[in-house]
Parts: sequence; structure tokens; C-alpha cells
Amino acid sequence: MESIIYKLLNVFIVYEYNFCNFTRNYQLISMRKIQMVDLKGQYEHIKERVNTSVIDVIESTAFINGPEVHLFQKELEDYLGVKHVIPCANGTDALQVAMMGLGLKPGDELITADFTFAATVEVIALLGLTPVLVDVDPVTFNIDISAIKRAITPRTKAIVPIHLFGLSAEMDEIMEIAHEHDLFVIEDNAQGIGSDYISKDGSKIKTGSIGHVATTSFFPSKNLGCYGDGGAIFTNDDDLAHTIRGIVNHGMYERYHHDVIGVNSRLDSIQAAVLRAKLPNLDAYNTTRRNAAIQYTKALTGVENIITPTGFCDSDICDDCHCHVFHQYTLRVINADRDALAQHLNDKGIPCGVYYPIPLHSQKAYEDDRYNDADFKVTNQLVKEVISLPMHTELDDEQINFITETIINFVGN
Ligand SMILES: *Cc1c(COP(=O)(O)O)cnc(C)c1O
Repeated sequence: MESIIYKLLNVFIVYEYNFCNFTRNYQLISMRKIQMVDLKGQYEHIKERVNTSVIDVIESTAFINGPEVHLFQKELEDYLGVKHVIPCANGTDALQVAMMGLGLKPGDELITADFTFAATVEVIALLGLTPVLVDVDPVTFNIDISAIKRAITPRTKAIVPIHLFGLSAEMDEIMEIAHEHDLFVIEDNAQGIGSDYISKDGSKIKTGSIGHVATTSFFPSKNLGCYGDGGAIFTNDDDLAHTIRGIVNHGMYERYHHDVIGVNSRLDSIQAAVLRAKLPNLDAYNTTRRNAAIQYTKALTGVENIITPTGFCDSDICDDCHCHVFHQYTLRVINADRDALAQHLNDKGIPCGVYYPIPLHSQKAYEDDRYNDADFKVTNQLVKEVISLPMHTELDDEQINFITETIINFVGN
């Protein structure tokens, strides 16, 4: 008897608990599952074109260096307003090949940011060049101009700015420094494709077309992503373009004549076909990201312990520009527990990411006696504070509201 009562009571408690949860989570149940990046949803809109183009490549068997690759190259050149696009296998290769093309030699110093993905410093080290990591700006998260100036030595040969999270680095200042010290500028545009840099004179120019050479990645989750690996190098310099075209093809300028040591790095035709289907939508994709970012910022501005990202230009000056393409929408959580917020979001079914959790100068592979931890105050702080929210082309109002309300409820407690 006792056990029956106990069981009934138990059933009632479970029922009551579920009922409360049901009413509380009613909205959650009806809402589409939130994803950090929704590639499936995006694919549904372009399915017919992608499927047809991919099958065409298969039918043609022109898998390597097929017409799709050349057409994509031309279309991207037009879109960016850059003279040469050289497709390659991924964004890391793109950086490596760009540095090889510039003829950099062991001992040459390249200045780059401490707060970014490791690919940039990785290829510098791999080529036997000397990475010189410097701190970033706390507002833009991009390489700090005064830190670049302090890091210049007679051995400095290049600056490698990253347009981190989709916001252009301060290119006017960087190009000025480079001009003054006779340095190359290699833009890592993996996160910034399609973004506009507004010059001091008010002119608008696409990131990746400003430095001597630029690189990008078509990794699936990037703003222009393929369905595998892919990358490209951009330059307006005819000679450099010629050199790089040989380097990505085993150092060949004439069939079976290997003039320089090269690599094998190609964008395959199927990936090019996918990219050709997506490139005409890139501006619309970036607008959708920007609109999601505007909604996030509207809801989170002024919320205690939260700093929203910068990068919205004055809409009166530039209504339809993409001065930030929000590869990531990254908040700073100050004087509060970032990791607890991340856990809370996860508990509510909201994915989030910490880009990046460790400064590059503290990574085992890149530690060096040359670095003084005190020179990286901003990066050391940011790695503890940043959190990136779901950002892709398929977020809807209900999802964005749920995300911002969940954050506000957490920090309000
Ligand atoms: C993604 C990324 C890369 C590397 O691109 P892969 O295609 O993955 O090799 C390089 N730099 C930055 C800033 C990136 O975000």
C-alpha cells in the first residue's frame, strides 16, 4: 500500500514538474532548434542550383582545374574589384603561399595579432620566418596600431592584419606604416569576405583588395563557405600573381619545369561549383548577418556586465555598406562569469563559442622568451571575457529574442 501511494505521488510530482516545464518551455518547443551555424537551412534555399552544378561537374569529370574553377575565379575578381584571384585548397595554404610568393626568408619578422585563430602564426613559423605577436584593440578586437609601431625592427618585412570576426582592421594606418618602413601587408580576410573598409577620405573599398596580397578561406562556416575545404589568394600585382600561380602548382610555370619549390594546393571543381552558386548571395547573406547583429545589439545595449561589439557605421553615411560582416557576433562579459553564462546558454539549448580562449603567445607551440606577458594586457583580458552568439543566415526573430532574453535573465540574476 505504502509503495502504491509512493508511486502515485511520484507520478503526480513528475506530471506536475513536466507540466510546469511544458508551460515555461512552450515557446522553446515551438521554436526551431538554435544552431551556431545553420548550413542545412541555407542549403535548402539554393538546393536546386547547387545540386545541378555539382552533378554537372561529376558528369563532366573535370574535377581538377575545370571550367567552374576559372569561372569562379573571374566572378570573385569582379566582386572584390581585385585584379587576380588565385584559388587554392584552404585558407591556411593561402597564407603560406602568399608568404612564399613575397620571397620572405628565414629571419624576416612578420608582425601579427595575438588574438586570432592560430593559422596566421602557424604558417609564419612553418616557413622559418619569425612571428612577432602584438596586442589588439579592446574595442575592435583587431591588431593594435601603436603596438605594431613599437614592434618594428630593421628585420621587419611584413604586417599581417586579420579582419577579425568580420570587421576590417585599420587599413589606412597599417598601409601608412607599411609605406613608411617599406613593408608588405598581407590581409588575412578569412573572416571578412564581403566587408567594406571605409577609408579616412570616405571612400569604400572591399577588404582583401587593400594590402599587397590577401588571403581567404572557404571553410563551410565562413561567410562564403563551400562544402569542404577551399581558399584563395588575392592581389593587384601582376608579377606576384604569376609567381603565386606557379607556387600553388608545384612551382611550375611550364609543364614539368619546376622553377621554384612549390606546393600542391588547388580548389577542386565541385567546391568551385558550390561557391559559384553562393557568391551571388554573399551580399544578401552579409545583410542578413548584419540585421541579426543589429537585433542582438538593440536588445543587449546597456545590459549590465555586457559589452556589445562595435562596427555599425552611421547609417546616414552608408546605408547599404558592410563595414562589419559579422562572421562572429562577439560580446564581452565584464565583471561576471563568462563560463557560467556559456553553461546557462547551453542548458537552455543555445549554442555559443569562445573565440579564442588562449592568447597565441601563451600557446605551447608559439611561446617565446621574446614575449613579455605584460605586453598583451588586452588579449589576456579578452580571452576571459569573450563569448560569441549563434550567427548565420537563417536566424529568425523568435530565436534572437529567446537568446537575448536568456542572456538578460542570467546577468540580471
Ligand atoms: C578560418 C581561418 C583561417 C584558416 O582557414 P582554413 O581554410 O581553415 O585553412 C585562417 N585565418 C583565419 C582568421 C580564419 O578564421
